[in-house]
Amino acid sequence: MKFFGTMKNNSGVLEIGGIKVTELAEKYGTPLYVMDQELIEENMMKYKENFKSDKFKTTVVYASKAFLSKAICKLVEKHDLHIDAVSGGELYTIKASGISMERVHMHGNNKTDDELRMCLDYGIGSIIIDNEEEIERVSKICLEKDQKVKVMLRINIGIDAHTHEYIQTSKHSSKFGESIFDERFPEIVEKITSDKNLEFLGFHCHIGSQIFDTKAFHEGIEVMIKETKKISEKLNIEIPEINLGGGFGVYYTEKDTAIDVEKFMKSMIEHIEKSLEKESMNMKKISIEPGRSIIGNAGSTLYRVGGIKETFGGVKYVFIDGGMTDNIRPALYQAEYEAVLANKLDVVEDEIVTVAGKCCESGDLIIKNRKLGKAEAGDLLLVATTGAYGYSMSSNYNKAQRPAVVFVKDGKSAISIKRESLKDLVRNDVDMEL
Ligand SMILES: *Cc1c(COP(=O)(O)O)cnc(C)c1O
Repeated sequence: MKFFGTMKNNSGVLEIGGIKVTELAEKYGTPLYVMDQELIEENMMKYKENFKSDKFKTTVVYASKAFLSKAICKLVEKHDLHIDAVSGGELYTIKASGISMERVHMHGNNKTDDELRMCLDYGIGSIIIDNEEEIERVSKICLEKDQKVKVMLRINIGIDAHTHEYIQTSKHSSKFGESIFDERFPEIVEKITSDKNLEFLGFHCHIGSQIFDTKAFHEGIEVMIKETKKISEKLNIEIPEINLGGGFGVYYTEKDTAIDVEKFMKSMIEHIEKSLEKESMNMKKISIEPGRSIIGNAGSTLYRVGGIKETFGGVKYVFIDGGMTDNIRPALYQAEYEAVLANKLDVVEDEIVTVAGKCCESGDLIIKNRKLGKAEAGDLLLVATTGAYGYSMSSNYNKAQRPAVVFVKDGKSAISIKRESLKDLVRNDVDMEL
């Protein structure tokens, strides 16, 4: 397994943030999400330091759906990032963290009126309008509240990024955004710019997630800048901002060549500056929206090994005390992971095993046919790169209690999200008279 951040081999036991995972398992129980705070902050700083220019302002917006807790919001503010939300629940969580709501930008292809009211009540930075119908709804709610709001328009630029179908978002039939190829597109933009309640900032795009093909991002830059120029000339308006979205690919297994954030941010900035010059354009601000590439490698899941089973069919299973309830990605889109016996780092990895969870689903597999040391009941299995879309996609299926999330740094650990209790599982279950 590839090590990330502060991971170290401490006499055969994996250490993260200066703490042996055996100690973490003892103290907090398993399954447990372990977040390497130093690596999270390092990633945030890498974006901040490398995505900047003398020609325009830049903003790095953390895509909160990757992982959201009050602690992560505080780190967002500490490193002067912004943060996005796509639901009332995410807005509420960010608000509860106490950070400035001007840092918040609201997405979503189907925001409810209540969510839009929340945006205005909280005084968030901007709303990213998804489609024509939403323009009128946002405007109506502004009128109702006698407030104005800054908006962007999410546009679909038709870029075919090579990633899993479910996480591609910019194909012509995607449910997100308004297509720039639609002949009514200028009209739709004009609807926004002519609305007194809305302050139009510019266009937003997000071409997909876990993208390694840097060409797709460069193509995105070109299209966004050209389109912005075209529309601003056609409608004779100034468009101050563009947001280029996130989706920068990270390492999960040896099949992935992660995007080098430092290098790639520099090359994006260079490309943006050149394109603006070529089109003789000025932009006030350019933003990006990374999620996974900030939090993915910084999080791991620590499980306790239970049974080991060799099937008649020849598959050797290692059973763990979690599964698809804390990591749905393998079942949802065949995501692959690396793992290690975290209390036995020095044993030879000479077995081919499949790691299965405890849910009543044959598809509840976290790892299929990968090398691992000989596991025994009681061992600790650590699955790497579960920081993004792990906790945030977790569920209570089979009445699983969501694991705790622990932040580790410099030999200290602290709970960011508590483990769900059995009581939590019946919190909303009403004693009916039957
Ligand atoms: C999911 C999402 C992101 C972040 O994607 P990552 O792959 O986690 O970097 C950014 N912007 C929007 C609109 C998204 O939906």
